This record gives sequence, structure tokens and C-alpha cells, in this order.
Amino acid sequence: MPATKSSPIHADLETVLVSETAIKKRLKGLGQDIAAAYGDQEITVVAIINGAILFTADLLRQINNPIRLDCVRISSYRGETSSQGKPKLMHNLTLDIANRHVLLIDDILDTGKTLSVVVDLIKKQNPASVRTCVLLDKKGRREVEFTADFVGFEIPDRFVVGYGLDFAERYRNLPCIGILKPELQNPPEWA
Ligand code: 5GP
Ligand code: MG
Repeated sequence: MPATKSSPIHADLETVLVSETAIKKRLKGLGQDIAAAYGDQEITVVAIINGAILFTADLLRQINNPIRLDCVRISSYRGETSSQGKPKLMHNLTLDIANRHVLLIDDILDTGKTLSVVVDLIKKQNPASVRTCVLLDKKGRREVEFTADFVGFEIPDRFVVGYGLDFAERYRNLPCIGILKPELQNPPEWA
């Protein structure tokens, strides 16, 4: 059953920012934009896990180009001060990306640090091109300049969960994106 305002999709959410229906519709448009940008080229997709898993899985099914898929894992720097806060690569690519057209996918573009670091790493391996795609963009939060080539939705500066995005590794499986109820934003047993 589609989510509506009168039937909250998840009891732990205070607000649904992006509904399941809106995500599905936007994925079609993003898929068309990406296919148009690449023509008949093969795309080497690099997903930043865990957050981009659900988005990547659904988006790739909207694109008919030949696709190779790889993942990288980046350390979380949340809770650290910004001076210590350089994201680190925890798991590197397994595919060779030299001379390939790379599409880097993440769940959300926030300060811009994660994507800047990963784009720099990818460029060192001499790909033919690098483009980036994010489901969500919090434009107001940028600390380093970064513009994604493909953006699903611009959202306000609120901490969101669902559709791949977690709070303490929970809520990634929600089919929509929303804001947690305030009383659930710091449960000590989840530390
Ligand atoms: P950036 O490096 O651009 O600051 O942040 C990107 C990463 O921070 C994302 O991949 C995501 O893991 C995390 N992040 C940023 N904002 C949010 C948010 O609102 N909710 C969740 N769950 N993660 C976020
Ligand atoms: Mg992430």
C-alpha cells in the first residue's frame, strides 16, 4: 500500500521527507538522465557502501547500458571533530577502472568530504571519465566545494534515515526517507 500522510510508513519517524512513491518516480528520471549522458557507453559503477546499497540496486535497474559494478567502503568520521575528520578508505576497488567511464554513487552529499576523497582516489587510477550521482543533497552543509552530476532530491539540513541511510545501523530498510522522532535520536543501548 502506498505511503500517505494519514498512514505513517514507520512508527519511529516524525516526518516523511521523501515518500516511497516519490523515490520510485525520481529513479526513473535519474536513470534516463544517466543513460542520456553515457549514450551507448559501458559504465563502471562504484557504490559507496553501506549507505548507497539500496539506491544503487534500484537505480541500476533503470539503466540499460552495459554496467560493471564495484563497491568501496569509507570510514565514518561522524562524531569526530572536523580536523580529524578526513574520511578513510576501508575497502578498495576490486575492478580495474583505468580507461573506464566511472559513475560514483553515494546516498547523500553533505559536507562533500566523502565524495571529494573518493573522486581523488578514483582519478589516480586514470579512468576515462568520472561522474557522481547522489540520492540526496544537503546543499547548505558543504565544507568542501562539490557538485554532483546527478542529484535525486535536495533536502534541508536535517539528519535523515531510510532507503539505505542509517542511524546506528538501523532503519536502512525503510522504503522512504524521513526524520526520526526526537526521543529516538540517542537511545543509549545503541551506542
Ligand atoms: P559528507 O562526507 O558529504 O559530509 O557525508 C557523506 C556521508 O555522511 C554519507 O555517505 C552518509 O553516510 C553520512 N550522512 C550525511 N548526512 C546524513 C544524514 O542525514 N543521515 C545519515 N544517515 N547519514 C548521513
Ligand atoms: Mg555513507
